[in-house]
Amino acid sequence: DTRALASSLHGMDGASYGRYKSLTGRWTMDGFTLEVRRIQADPFAPPSRIRVDVPASTAGFPAELHDSDVRRRALGGYLLRALRRALSGTPVTVDAGGQEVLARSAIRLDDGAVRVELGVPMPGHGRRIDGKQAARTLTRDLPDAVLAALRWETADRAAAEEFVHTVEDATALREALAGNGLVAFVADGAVLPRRSGVDERPLDGAVPFASPESLRTTLTTPHAGEVTGMGVPEGVTLIVGGGYHGKSTLLRALETGVYDHVPGDGRERCVTRPDAVSVRAEDERGVERVDVSAFVSHLPSGAPTDDFSTTAASGSTSQAASTVEALEAGADVLLIDEDTSATNVMIRDARMRELIPSEPLVPFTDRVRPLHADHGVSTVLVMGGSGDYLDKADTVILMEGYVASEVTGRAHEVAAAAGPARTSEHTGFPDVTHRVFDPGSVDAEVRGRRRVTARGRARLTFGADDIDLSAVAQLVDSSQVTGIGLALAHAVHTKLLDGRRTVGEVLDGLDRDVVEDGLEGIAHGALSDYALPRRHEVAAALNRLRSARVTELRAR
Ligand code: ADP
Ligand code: MG
Repeated sequence: DTRALASSLHGMDGASYGRYKSLTGRWTMDGFTLEVRRIQADPFAPPSRIRVDVPASTAGFPAELHDSDVRRRALGGYLLRALRRALSGTPVTVDAGGQEVLARSAIRLDDGAVRVELGVPMPGHGRRIDGKQAARTLTRDLPDAVLAALRWETADRAAAEEFVHTVEDATALREALAGNGLVAFVADGAVLPRRSGVDERPLDGAVPFASPESLRTTLTTPHAGEVTGMGVPEGVTLIVGGGYHGKSTLLRALETGVYDHVPGDGRERCVTRPDAVSVRAEDERGVERVDVSAFVSHLPSGAPTDDFSTTAASGSTSQAASTVEALEAGADVLLIDEDTSATNVMIRDARMRELIPSEPLVPFTDRVRPLHADHGVSTVLVMGGSGDYLDKADTVILMEGYVASEVTGRAHEVAAAAGPARTSEHTGFPDVTHRVFDPGSVDAEVRGRRRVTARGRARLTFGADDIDLSAVAQLVDSSQVTGIGLALAHAVHTKLLDGRRTVGEVLDGLDRDVVEDGLEGIAHGALSDYALPRRHEVAAALNRLRSARVTELRAR
């Protein structure tokens, strides 16, 4: 029992640090099991890995809080956060996450049994074991927190229920989008702005969102009943308005609406279709055999544009490549902000068309409508600086002092008054080419050891490569970055990525594996914390892996 572990730790006090390794294995504690899975090599290495198993009889959470995948993800998210709170002031770490509620490896709910994975920096005085401190942490602080946070008897029941209901409602709203012809929904009363670029909590004193009457939609949720807000319809939607009036903030809410948010976030009822992908310019990125001919008609070097590779793309070619890659991975909504776009791939005015008739770039103005007509892909675009999209948009939303209104009719009038729309010389949007990657070029192993390490939210060490993910806007959590690395390694390891399947087929296979085998199916014994990434972010990482080579292009 607990005393056995305590006396072992006291007995090691002052011994050399390596003795900690003898703790490895399972310990029966009062009310739960503690498993020491890996002991760190020295006091400065990453924390030791401890697993806690609370049996269903002790945990006692009612089935209606964990009897579906969504409810397990939600209750798991709640319990991790409650445990993190209960452990504050102790050195124990819990990968509980931020504002988004993601499926995470740090917790697993199985028929009411709760399993959590924790990090414990085992204390030392230099290279000597501090047994007293270790005993305090493992046999007093940790059990107190586990028994307080992971049992229905002592849990904050109202908070747990609210958390699960909030996530379940958001999921229901998101699932209702396609059937209602919407790409996104922003509830009335939502708080969209964040405190700062480095603080994702809601901004105090923000103007709450209010839907314009003409776009007002009511959707039904299982717990909150009818929810009213702005429905963003399929097709081409333009967000216009003066600088600093809240345009980018609204688009950012749509970007993160692919995830569920914690109660109190302000965006709990802002949802976006799961395959909405944010695209931006990212000069210097590598591009491997992407068909960018939809946006680039020819290159000064004479290089082919339907099979385009570079080690350092320009702003415009990077955005063109990212757009086509998003479609290849199955995006059905593109989210684009002028602030992060290459101007020359977004717009080109009449004067420039006259001055430079041979311009190789085909601006997105010419492609945005065929993209929807031919491929069913909607676009939501922030554009305050040019009127070129006014006649392309099905819906125009004006942001003025953080207040949204619909100005579609007026926008079309303005566009018509400026003369007939220039007829585009470009019709249609070419079919996307599907690429086949060489599995040998997607290698996570360095000298026989798998190397997959997140370096914060924006960088992934994958084998010998470092993947720069700073322009992948919908990554919200460094544990997703680890998840991406594990997913890619899994795809190679299980021969899903076999040199024959296209990118889309590999991503389908990954999605299927996670549904069938659960989150842990992709880890193959890795002990790191990770969160489930979307297929789009897995694809984004593969597309930015500089060693990755394409061996075949397929029309499908
Ligand atoms: P734009 O893209 O139109 O230039 P932003 O979306 O970047 O404007 O917003 C400008 C500033 O206003 C940001 O600091 C943002 O946090 C703040 N802001 C956005 N929406 C609101 C709101 N509803 N209430 C209060 N402040 C807001
Ligand atoms: Mg902006």
